[in-house]
Amino acid sequence: MRPNRTFSDKQFAGMYQPQRARMVEVLRQRGIKDERVLQAMLEIPRHLFVPEALAAKAYGDHALPIGAMQTISQPYMVARMTELLEVDKEATVLEIGAGSGYQTAVLSAVAGRIFALERISELSRIGQANIRKIGCYNATIKCFDGTLGWSEYAPYDGILVAAGSPDIPEPLVAQLQVGGRLVLPVGTHDQQTLVRITRTAEGVVRENLESCVFVKLIGRHGWKS
Ligand code: SAH
Repeated sequence: MRPNRTFSDKQFAGMYQPQRARMVEVLRQRGIKDERVLQAMLEIPRHLFVPEALAAKAYGDHALPIGAMQTISQPYMVARMTELLEVDKEATVLEIGAGSGYQTAVLSAVAGRIFALERISELSRIGQANIRKIGCYNATIKCFDGTLGWSEYAPYDGILVAAGSPDIPEPLVAQLQVGGRLVLPVGTHDQQTLVRITRTAEGVVRENLESCVFVKLIGRHGWKS
């Protein structure tokens, strides 16, 4: 599944600059305001995170297949969720559903340390290879059920879940710092609402934001299959 390239990946990283600039323009038009997120997406070579045959389509505002029946999230959703986390370079972030590693790379540009989980081992290997390939060293991707969180590095300033959950997984709220934010899609298997949970000293504040469509979050505190 890993794209087989004949030249060094460094040479490929410089390609598609006009497409990348256009993608960022579309993100601005759709209401993304965080300049750090826009700058990260202007620089990160998204085409290296999709199968080689789909590279030319990597900068359209849509999801694309990445194998194992999973998808790389649409650029708008990556930007929107990252913006909603409101993290800075001091922040430790947990990401669930790392897939291709593209969201991981965007997070690594705006936050301090990223711990990312992916339940499909083949994808976790590809994702880890992809982030290293572009020189991202403050993030790591492990194969594990993300609905259980990653207690070793908790509490987190931000938790981003890139797969649709029937409910809010309790372990994730428990691993959130007071003042920290959890952003995730909650709903049925084919339609969800983007939800932001902010942990406070007294409990949590829940905001129901826009509607969205993600693949299923499968695990102990997600869908069973
Ligand atoms: N953000 C990634 C992938 C999004 S698709 C990208 O843009 O490339 C969602 C991913 O969540 C899939 O790869 C799927 O395998 C993964 N996933 C689903 N349930 C999970 C769980 N419980 N723990 C970790 N990853 C999970």
